[in-house]
Amino acid sequence: MPIPRWSKRKYLPGTRPARRIALRLAGVSLLLAQAGAAQAAADPALLAIRDLDRRLARISFRLATRNVALCPVTTTWSGLLLHDINEYAPAFRGSVRDTFGLVDTFPAVLATVEGSPASVAGIAEDETITSIDDQPLARAEVMRHATMASVNAVLAQLQKALDAGPVRLALVAGDRRSTVVLEGARGCASRVELLPGPGLSAAADGETVQVSGALAEFVLNDDELAILAGHEMAHNILRHPEILKAAGVRHGLLGSFGKDAARIRETEVAADYLGLYLAARAGYDISSAIGFWERFGRRTSWGIFNSPTHPGWKKRQEMVKTTMAEIAAQTAQGRELFPDPDRIGR
Ligand SMILES: [Zn+2]
Repeated sequence: MPIPRWSKRKYLPGTRPARRIALRLAGVSLLLAQAGAAQAAADPALLAIRDLDRRLARISFRLATRNVALCPVTTTWSGLLLHDINEYAPAFRGSVRDTFGLVDTFPAVLATVEGSPASVAGIAEDETITSIDDQPLARAEVMRHATMASVNAVLAQLQKALDAGPVRLALVAGDRRSTVVLEGARGCASRVELLPGPGLSAAADGETVQVSGALAEFVLNDDELAILAGHEMAHNILRHPEILKAAGVRHGLLGSFGKDAARIRETEVAADYLGLYLAARAGYDISSAIGFWERFGRRTSWGIFNSPTHPGWKKRQEMVKTTMAEIAAQTAQGRELFPDPDRIGR
């Protein structure tokens, strides 16, 4: 995928970027939604973003947990997405409180993945978390700018606790208080995040995958989104960012020529190939990659030039077809699907 500017930023594992950039998706503008429904409690734009968050979380949970056999490094997944008021720009906080019932001092459940440990434990969206393993969470200070610091601190605490075993969470929803035990599921060590925004972009930095809101809306179905997320997860599983950095490969315009471009192209081909295996093993229909790469390729085309770093969409389609044949042969033999190690540099 093209490497957008924000991919250079570093995020802690388990975090999402602050939602101050553009709370706007194709066709859904927060300001328009507000103007059209001044008295409405829930903001349709915020709900639309949550739907995309939940959908991407469901697909990445499935990709991660069904591909442990292909991942040298694994981590604990829970299927629980948290947010807090500080991660939103102050201008949006009124709508955020109205939409999600978010209180100022504690993180709340943005979404849970169906069938994941979070939903099995009975955790519901919009519940507020007040303690982890019987340790009350500190009350967060409300910041005057958008920051992920307070929610990241809770996510790091929760991740550490989950890595050690089942975790007791105290939850509040209105007057109702409950305690649940959350267990973890083993999955590949690559986070996947939605970055609300208008550009068609996705990137991997070694730890985290980011998919733009516009790209998550551009895909036609879950199969296409799984192929896209699988491609980016494959970059992290194969440690491409680290390998390219160690080799001194430059990105952007400087990396568009000669050896640098050739090295980047090799990683793109390997990520396409492994990504299809990740999606197929997770039960997605990889034939949808044929149409997806064409639509995506035409939209992000370099015109009459070929991209120096990425295979053209016709090449990608050929690769999908040969990989589908390879996977069909393994399926016919009743074998668990494994990619050819030579083609992913193993
Ligand atoms: Zn890529």
